[in-house]
Amino acid sequence: MTNPDLSVALGSRRLRTLDQSSKLKNVLYEIRGAALDEAARLEAAGHTVLKLNTGNPAIFGFEAPYQIVRDMIAAVPTAHGYSESRGILAARRAIVSRYEEIPGFPHVDPENVFLGNGVSELITMTMQALLDEGDEVLIPAPDYPLWTAMTSLSGGTPVHYVCDENNGWNPDLEDIRSRITDRTKAIVIINPNNPTGAVYSRETLEGIADIAREHSLLVLSDEIYDRILFDDAVHIPMATIAPDLLCLTFNGLSKTYRVAGYRSGWMVITGPQKHAQGFLHGINLLASTRLCPNVPAQHAVLAALTGVQTIDQLVAPSGRLHEQRDITWEKLNEIPGVSCVKPQGALYAFPRLDPEVHEIRDDAKLVYDLLVAERILLVQGTGFNWDAPDHLRIVTLPEARVLGEAIERLGNFLSSYKQ
Ligand code: PLP
Repeated sequence: MTNPDLSVALGSRRLRTLDQSSKLKNVLYEIRGAALDEAARLEAAGHTVLKLNTGNPAIFGFEAPYQIVRDMIAAVPTAHGYSESRGILAARRAIVSRYEEIPGFPHVDPENVFLGNGVSELITMTMQALLDEGDEVLIPAPDYPLWTAMTSLSGGTPVHYVCDENNGWNPDLEDIRSRITDRTKAIVIINPNNPTGAVYSRETLEGIADIAREHSLLVLSDEIYDRILFDDAVHIPMATIAPDLLCLTFNGLSKTYRVAGYRSGWMVITGPQKHAQGFLHGINLLASTRLCPNVPAQHAVLAALTGVQTIDQLVAPSGRLHEQRDITWEKLNEIPGVSCVKPQGALYAFPRLDPEVHEIRDDAKLVYDLLVAERILLVQGTGFNWDAPDHLRIVTLPEARVLGEAIERLGNFLSSYKQ
């Protein structure tokens, strides 16, 4: 309750307007954007909204693996102190072992593993440690928009390279080359990809590594979906392709282990380091300033990596995630004027709306109108730094029946939708 004396006092004083900092000018995160506020209003009014906007397995009936929960609970009574700023050694060792199992993955020292409150925190730390005003970072379009947002917030300039829908959404190497300047410092690779579901070919990864070598680029490889693969897709870690380059590989528990709310991720550093001492000291410094990641969740890392890998059943041909990916892809392609490249990994589909059939000028408005009419929340393609209003992203996490019905409703909605 408001203290009446205080409100009088405040009422007699002029308070300076508080605006957001200008650093946030280019920081966008449409996955939780304006449409989500409208969804919250609809829900408050008693409507049920099917929220296909975030890759959050927990809300679609994916339970946290039992051994992760059990070990975390067991750790809680003694996990109330700060840990080492990089993270507890046992968890870092478990991460080292995970990569030792991957043929060709360069040697990782536990000193070169950093745990974080999700990959998100590590992306922020990396960009803050790396970038000066005007430094450029190559980022895929479409992208997972946190990479673009954190590049901007850190004073850098995001430069988007195109991924080619006609080539399974693999990055276009010529386009990457054409965007390099003497300010280009790093290249971001998201593989398997959010939002397209692409799993990059060896040829593409080798091409990217060649470009990075030629221009001495730092390689930032976001591989958070590395075990969510369908059919014959094989994930090739970037560090195995470019062991001679400084490469930061990002991964965590949010997706493969389905405990996004525990906020637990890691980053491993491979390749030569002598030339990058300043940057790496910066990472250490920022790891220290955040004190440490959530300590109980670090025990979750240990349990997740050493236990049964339950994701394998979910992505197998009879598994839930596989079935959901199939129905999403099939149903989307049944809609007139909609086409979708078959996702080979991750938890999303990124269908195209043919502009000849669906004249969409404003894809955020399309998402809003779909929400109001059908109570289905998607994210517009431009929210992923895609430059045309002709794509949508759908999360493939709900049960197949729910997805099938939702996509049919999307099709009905589009059949009469005009802007
Ligand atoms: N990277 C990618 C490609 C993602 O899709 C996501 C979340 O959707 C993240 C990073 C963030 O992961 P975390 O939950 O570990 O912060």
